[in-house]
Amino acid sequence: MAYYTAKTKDGSEWTPTFAESIDEEKCIGCGRCYKACSRKVLGFKEIDEEDSARMFMFVENDGNCIGCAACGVTCPKKAFSFKPLEA
Ligand code: SF4
Ligand code: SF4
Repeated sequence: MAYYTAKTKDGSEWTPTFAESIDEEKCIGCGRCYKACSRKVLGFKEIDEEDSARMFMFVENDGNCIGCAACGVTCPKKAFSFKPLEA
């Protein structure tokens, strides 16, 4: 399968991997990924649990993602899934 590729400044080929989803079971809502993303792709959601509520992150504006994967690098829980774009 062929994937969309771009070029780095020196002309090297680069295959962006786009944020696809965040595992809400793994996410602890720390917000590191939110701060790392310069494209406003990520958003917080609240989940009601039995006697409390907790926050987790989700991919809110996936059309803004440039596939840099910076969010995943910051995630201490390895909650992200990434995917290249089919060409
Ligand atoms: S891959 Fe880059 S642009 Fe996309 S959500 Fe993560 S940090 Fe933002
Ligand atoms: S960095 Fe990971 S654990 Fe923290 S809010 Fe983002 S997805 Fe959740």
